[in-house]
Amino acid sequence: MVVPAYNEAGNIRGTLQTVAEACEALGLPWDILVVDDGSADATAAEVAAVPPAWRVGLLRLSRNFGKEAALTAGLDHAQGEVVVCMDGDGQHPVSLLPALLAHWREGYDMVYAVREDRDRESAFKRLGSRIFYGLMSSTGQIDIPANAGDFRLMDRRVVEALRALPERQRFMKGIYAWVGFRSLGLPYTPLAREHGQSSFSRRKLARLAWTGITSFSVLPLRLASLLGVMLALPAFAYGLYELIEKTIYGSDVPGWPTVVVSIMFFSGVQLLFIGVLGEYLARVYEEVKARPTYLIAERLAPPQPGAGPAE
Ligand code: UDP
Ligand code: MG
Repeated sequence: MVVPAYNEAGNIRGTLQTVAEACEALGLPWDILVVDDGSADATAAEVAAVPPAWRVGLLRLSRNFGKEAALTAGLDHAQGEVVVCMDGDGQHPVSLLPALLAHWREGYDMVYAVREDRDRESAFKRLGSRIFYGLMSSTGQIDIPANAGDFRLMDRRVVEALRALPERQRFMKGIYAWVGFRSLGLPYTPLAREHGQSSFSRRKLARLAWTGITSFSVLPLRLASLLGVMLALPAFAYGLYELIEKTIYGSDVPGWPTVVVSIMFFSGVQLLFIGVLGEYLARVYEEVKARPTYLIAERLAPPQPGAGPAE
């Protein structure tokens, strides 16, 4: 199990207990790897203090690198033949674990949980996610299942495939879809968060969505070319019309407002797409710097079964 946690001191112990009990019930060898994503609270201490019977290991990152990086760190260090990622805030129901595993036994390499109801979320968030998935699917390059998150089971083959991707802009939803393999979605309803609040504000979500779009689609760039052609053609036709009007009929060309409006319009469009270009350049810049996705400050291996007293 890979569990990313950022400032989850209030939730993590309860989550780990629930997860450990559910794992024990599965009757397979298991352990849990918590990735402490640079928490400013007592998350790491809480994790270090859990009973050895829960088989919890800890990977403490040197600062907050974000959930995508935390998951990457967890997947890089997970040992299992099967890896399941679950949030540290207890919102992912462990009751789904047997079903995830059952489908893996049937031959699926990746079984992901799909959010059933987004009713609890604001209309703004729902609209945002609808627009995002619509945009992503319209690019047609990869098929990202709507409302599927990081709660998923992966076969070792999938984990190795994910690890082999060298990119630093780790937009996990896209990366999972990109690697492919036999995948299946299972519906689930997320539980309520008990302590603290979501780290993903509207702004952060919007930024994540934009990273997703620019990492997995060149649609915005294509749009620039398309709009360029669409604007240039009528402009050319209009120029021709004015030329004929002036030379044949000798009429004055009136209207500096037209000039002002069109200059403003075209420079606006140009600036907008220079900005889009800049966003892609920024992605290239991030990749070229080739900095690691995360840094590890401390690593505690999960206790081996049999070592230490049971709870
Ligand atoms: N998380 C993380 N690093 C971050 C932000 C969040 O590891 O920078 C973890 C967090 O502790 C939780 C999971 O990612 O286990 C999902 O975060 P959250 O509950 O804030 O988001 P939501 O449930 O609203 O998607
Ligand atoms: Mg949450």
